Amino acid sequence: MKRERMVKIVATLGPSSNDYDTIRALHEAGADVFRLNMSHGTHDEIRERHRIIRQIEKDLDSPIAILADLQGPKLRVGAFANGEEELEEGARFRLDLEEAEGDASRVTLPHPEIFAALEPGSTLLVNDGKIRLKVDKCGPDFAECTVLTGGTISNRKGVNVPDVVLPVAALSPKDRTDLEFACALGVDWLALSFVQRPEDVAEARELAQGRAAILSKIEKPAAVKTFDAILAASDGIMVARGDLGVELPVQNVPPIQKQLVRKCRAAAKPVIVATQMLESMIESPMPTRAEVSDVAAAIYEGTDAVMLSAESAAGQYPVEAVTTMDNVAREVQNDPTFTQVLESSRHAERNTVADGIVAAAREIAETTDIVAICCFSQSGMTALLTSRERPRVPIVALSPLIGTARRLALSWGTTCVVCGEVNRFKMAVVSAARAVLKLEMGTAEDHIVVTAGVPFNVTGTTNILRVAPCDERLIYSSDPE
Ligand code: PGA
Ligand code: MN
Repeated sequence: MKRERMVKIVATLGPSSNDYDTIRALHEAGADVFRLNMSHGTHDEIRERHRIIRQIEKDLDSPIAILADLQGPKLRVGAFANGEEELEEGARFRLDLEEAEGDASRVTLPHPEIFAALEPGSTLLVNDGKIRLKVDKCGPDFAECTVLTGGTISNRKGVNVPDVVLPVAALSPKDRTDLEFACALGVDWLALSFVQRPEDVAEARELAQGRAAILSKIEKPAAVKTFDAILAASDGIMVARGDLGVELPVQNVPPIQKQLVRKCRAAAKPVIVATQMLESMIESPMPTRAEVSDVAAAIYEGTDAVMLSAESAAGQYPVEAVTTMDNVAREVQNDPTFTQVLESSRHAERNTVADGIVAAAREIAETTDIVAICCFSQSGMTALLTSRERPRVPIVALSPLIGTARRLALSWGTTCVVCGEVNRFKMAVVSAARAVLKLEMGTAEDHIVVTAGVPFNVTGTTNILRVAPCDERLIYSSDPE
């Protein structure tokens, strides 16, 4: 589908966006990628949402990326006899492995590996960080704590342990089942929650066996510390500001967001800025000014995508939330400052032929009247490199592989088209011109830049750049081969 917008929109599906009409309206309003959250919903519900998205993709003839978000090693307390308890500041509270229901003095934390990793002085956060506990004393099956910040604790609330690298497996048994389920369905991206080390990513990649690309959610201080290695091991990144802002002081999140977005762009890997972007739109048709500024700021930084969570999954205004992001993105894009910011943060290191070709493609598009940069890509690598250049004209990624086209739906400025197998460069140019005309990005009088790697069936060989007319007859009469 043709979009006027370079930055991509990820919309999480949920009870508010379950049916064909709503999901189609979300896509038409601007959602390029749909997130299926494995923490909520049954396999049957997720299978149904997946089926609907693929139906819409077929009906509209435009590749859509589906991202399955695995819950990860999320820690939770057990249940309380009264359902909930009020913890007062200064009080003592104990976590242990006993099975009895909790009360105002203790509750079960059914994770022996956590007790093994805790030390006196460690902090435990409960219920999105609203309650803070400091560990005074601990053993293999208990931790005695002082309540630093009080609040209501209730059944199965989440627990964060920010200052400890947890000796837990990256993928819980539930994650392994969900991963296999999602890969068998045919999702394009797998998001890994609470990644701590690059080995966690390698483990998921081993299980996915190339069936889906791997996106690491950065939501733990440990992941920020080892970010470079995690980025190298991943195909994409999510700045998961929700849990990151629980595990670290909230004021640390904006600089981390900026740094991560820059590093991802330099590595030519897509990055999503996520969580609370338009939070007030869960209940209101109008966002706050601060939210609009937050979305705009992420786009100015050069993020590939911005994301909606509860706004589209459980809110009252899912389509309005997507429209708001789309409107903000288009205003930012029309601001000349935006181009300057992207230009000044371009990656300067160029080591390969492909780096040189994509930089040249952008340069030509900038200096002359080019309507699109078209790249032929088996693996998607050339398209990713072109996207890193953040050119002013749209990138049309042509691939014979639907999986490649779908994954690229997450990448900045990229419109994906599935094309037939081409084995001669002239045919590639003709398909590119046809795609640009069909997408109404230009007319027969316009010109495009086409990049490709010859021979066609070998990946990683970008070695051709051609400026071509969109008029097929002119291609045939002017092309050398
Ligand atoms: P979640 O991840 O919505 O799955 O928690 C995103 C975040 O923590 O920001
Ligand atoms: Mn999270």
